[in-house]
Amino acid sequence: MFVFKIIILGDQGNGKTSLMNKYVENKFVEHEAPTIGIEFASKTKDMCQIFDEQLLKDYREQYGNKYYQLERTVKLQIWNSSGQERFHSIVSTYYRNTHGVIFVCDLTRRPTMEHLRKWIDDYNKYATNPLDKVSGIVVGMKSDLRSQHQITEEELQQFANEYGLKSFTVSAKYDTTKIENVFNEILSQMFRRYINDDQLQNTIKYTKETDHDYLLQVDNNKSKKRCCNIL
Ligand code: GDP
Repeated sequence: MFVFKIIILGDQGNGKTSLMNKYVENKFVEHEAPTIGIEFASKTKDMCQIFDEQLLKDYREQYGNKYYQLERTVKLQIWNSSGQERFHSIVSTYYRNTHGVIFVCDLTRRPTMEHLRKWIDDYNKYATNPLDKVSGIVVGMKSDLRSQHQITEEELQQFANEYGLKSFTVSAKYDTTKIENVFNEILSQMFRRYINDDQLQNTIKYTKETDHDYLLQVDNNKSKKRCCNIL
């Protein structure tokens, strides 16, 4: 099974943990204790729920043995950090080998959208990506707190357009399907990049995580200094 790594970026309090927990466990906690350092969660996904089965079959036939490892089921590894400066020392571990990124802002606090520029710059600076292009989306949280909104859906989309990204507005409190769609969108972007990228086979290696799991990694990591910080 392939493992796709997604990281979530944005200021503290924006709803990153809530987004992850709603997707992975379908739960919402009103006053979630702040995340310290880095945490991550996994979820397996049958790609046929996103793509139709025929499309996957076509890919298999088209690419033959080269893609023999392509499985219907993939695993999403979702990384979430506190978004605090003091954890910047572990930044390289966090950003390494990411296939996708979710930039999260808080619709009730306008500056959190502007701050995403810094998070996008950081991502471009630090992230290594086994795929040719980043799969990314912008998510505005707390859509249920409508009377407190300082950012409209249109403004968020305009912001995301500047970077060629799609945007979603969701509530971790109420939206189960919409949040599923957020992750389906990024998953399908990553999956398409993965199966369409002919160069990929030369530049990546598969690290066996367990007997059934493979993590796609960039080969040039070997030459990079390894981070020795503790998560
Ligand atoms: P993080 O620091 O970015 O991980 O933010 P959290 O997920 O811890 O959320 C910060 C606070 O906002 C918590 O009290 C959450 O319960 C609340 N929160 C997060 N998302 C939503 C949402 O969509 N709607 C509402 N009403 N509250 C939310």
